[in-house]
Amino acid sequence: MARKSETRTELPGFDEAASGPRLGPTGRALREFADPKPLKSHGPARIIALCNQKGGVGKTTTSINLGAAIAECGRRVLAIDFDPQGALSAGLGVQTHDVTTIYDLLLSRTKSPSDAIQHTSVPNLDVIPANIDLSAAEVHLVNEVAREQILAGVLRKVVNDYDVILIDCQPSLGILTVNALTAAHGVLIPLECEFFALRGVALLVETIEKVKDRLNPVIELDGILATMYDSRTLHSREVLERVVDAFGDRVLETVISRTVKFPDASVAAMPITQFAPEHQASKAYRQLARELIARGAVA
Ligand code: ADP
Ligand code: MG
Repeated sequence: MARKSETRTELPGFDEAASGPRLGPTGRALREFADPKPLKSHGPARIIALCNQKGGVGKTTTSINLGAAIAECGRRVLAIDFDPQGALSAGLGVQTHDVTTIYDLLLSRTKSPSDAIQHTSVPNLDVIPANIDLSAAEVHLVNEVAREQILAGVLRKVVNDYDVILIDCQPSLGILTVNALTAAHGVLIPLECEFFALRGVALLVETIEKVKDRLNPVIELDGILATMYDSRTLHSREVLERVVDAFGDRVLETVISRTVKFPDASVAAMPITQFAPEHQASKAYRQLARELIARGAVA
């Protein structure tokens, strides 16, 4: 990797000594996003898929904590666990066995999402859980009519009850993920600040473009979220710099730092905003919620 400027302050026009604006990790001036106004009415929801075919990049962590942070803003949020690993369900402490799951809703046209929706300990944040059964869905959906549109059909039944629906995708670009992209208005791509982060993103963007052409003309890229950032390492800063070079303004200003508080919160089965409300990581997800509201990606 080409070694670029060691610190951001070397960028032209942003000399700290010249008392220029203080820069955030993405190289743009740090700013606070305003507290969002309360909503006068609720729904229909904007549907956002959290997508990256690479595992361990922060899709589930972001679905949980962004969901909780948006819910704190008085928005009604439904999080869909769309990964057979069920990590979103576990992280929010909801039942995954002997309950109706997203898999049941995909396979049965008579089941209602209200049979599957579970409340969480966070007011305004509900979940439709998943478990390992969902791994059989790809096989079952292959022979279905309009197999890419089945999740969209399920979500149509609840879209008026929520302001935001977040879909936590599994790490693949198979039929389930294509279903999520077909149902969604927007895509959020979490990207870890690690060396191979950009590998595969071109394929993901190409998949989104194909879905836009063939199945879902409204879909748009809401943003790329840098996760697991470690400001102390040059490596992390360089990766982020490359991501910004490649994607420009599509990289969200909010950056999520690496901290063990996230795994700790998962073990406690609660969002970080409840587990450690004053921690920097909670503030980062609240900032992300405000940024997405300011950008119009969330009501
Ligand atoms: P994905 O859903 O993309 O596979 P996860 O959200 O499950 O990724 O994250 C993978 C692992 O990394 C989990 O153990 C999670 O707790 C941890 N993790 C996620 N975000 C962070 C972060 N910002 N700092 C430290 N650990 C994180
Ligand atoms: Mg996950």
